[in-house]
Amino acid sequence: MSEETQVKKKRKIVLDERLLAYKGVWVFIEHERGQVHPVSWELLGEGRKLADMLGVELAGVVLAAPGEEAKRFCEEAYQYGADLCYLMQSEVLADYRNDPFTQGLTELVNAYQPEILLLGATTQGRDLAGSVATTLQTGLTADCTGLTIDPDNRSLLSTRPTFGGSLLCTIVTLNYRPQMATVRPRVMAMPEKVPGRVGRIVEHPLAMAEDDIVTKVLEFIADDSRDKPQLPFADIIVAGGRGLGKPENFQLVRDLAEALGAEVGASRPVVQAGWVELDRQVGQSGKTVRPKLYIAAGISGAIQHRVGMEGADCIIAINNDPNAPIFDFAHYGIVGDAMTILPALTEAFRQKLATLKQAG
Ligand SMILES: Cc1cc2nc3c(=O)[nH]c(=O)nc-3n(C[C@H](O)[C@H](O)[C@H](O)COP(=O)(O)OP(=O)(O)OC[C@H]3O[C@@H](n4cnc5c(N)ncnc54)[C@H](O)[C@@H]3O)c2cc1C
Repeated sequence: MSEETQVKKKRKIVLDERLLAYKGVWVFIEHERGQVHPVSWELLGEGRKLADMLGVELAGVVLAAPGEEAKRFCEEAYQYGADLCYLMQSEVLADYRNDPFTQGLTELVNAYQPEILLLGATTQGRDLAGSVATTLQTGLTADCTGLTIDPDNRSLLSTRPTFGGSLLCTIVTLNYRPQMATVRPRVMAMPEKVPGRVGRIVEHPLAMAEDDIVTKVLEFIADDSRDKPQLPFADIIVAGGRGLGKPENFQLVRDLAEALGAEVGASRPVVQAGWVELDRQVGQSGKTVRPKLYIAAGISGAIQHRVGMEGADCIIAINNDPNAPIFDFAHYGIVGDAMTILPALTEAFRQKLATLKQAG
């Protein structure tokens, strides 16, 4: 390495004075029909850590129709770690629409200047984050899997998969504020709720009327995915992969899942082969899950699968190859034929549950 390169590498990044005026960590509180999306609470948990590292306040940002409901969201945000909430209430914020939400969030950012703004990588969060970042002309890192602070210069270090998930890269927004990031549901742990924890509200009006908005809500049609598998929030998941050999064998995964009261998950090849529906795919291009127990049968543990399930409290891998990568991060490994082990586990759990039922 030349001397010049070494000097460049060691040079400390000093932030522009203008950027230092931005202070605080914000989390956008996403809600629909009276329900806050759990990713908002997960982000408050992560935001709390970032705010503590920076020595600043953590704020929730609530945009909603006027009423008690909005205040309830703020109260819940304090219990998940927020010190304060920025509350913007207007009839035009009753249902999510890009125009008023973008204008509202942009106005708040311009007025109070947070250094970090986090949103869930949900349909709503992705839509809003992109338009707010372009309106503010700042940097946005989508689908982050890790967030931390560079102690040298207070910058947010946003880590996310790149090159098809084969590498992780860390992105820094050096010259613009706020630093924006989205995170998929279940990537971050749910923080402990502290009942009775309180904070303060900063109310701010929205300078926008219904006539200023071209998009109109004619009807609300509930998301039918509510009736589909709720993999991200399942406590137990039994997942199967290509090692099961043929679609009929996938029934062994379903049987074990049924015995355990679990959801069924799958790796991408079996979804692509049409053995299982798309909304059961776990991984980078599927769902991120965080169950208490994840049983993986005939799954090699490729990085694109791993990023979607490594947050599980306990991973049990069943694979006939003792060198399969999944054994590098599973908590328990069973080396053997899934076609024998799955029915044996199903039988054992059924018997155990029957015994427990008999015992009352
Ligand atoms: C951009 C991109 C995105 C992707 N997104 C995803 C994603 O979201 N989710 C995902 O899962 N993948 C994803 N993939 C694919 C990923 O790279 C892997 O190809 C995939 O995860 C492998 O699936 P598998 O483990 O089922 O199959 P394989 O890698 O083929 O592994 C099968 C395993 O089964 C074992 N086995 C064989 N027979 C038996 C037996 N009888 N009993 C027990 N074990 C047995 C084998 O030893 C092997 O380890 C993505 C790839 C790319 C490029």
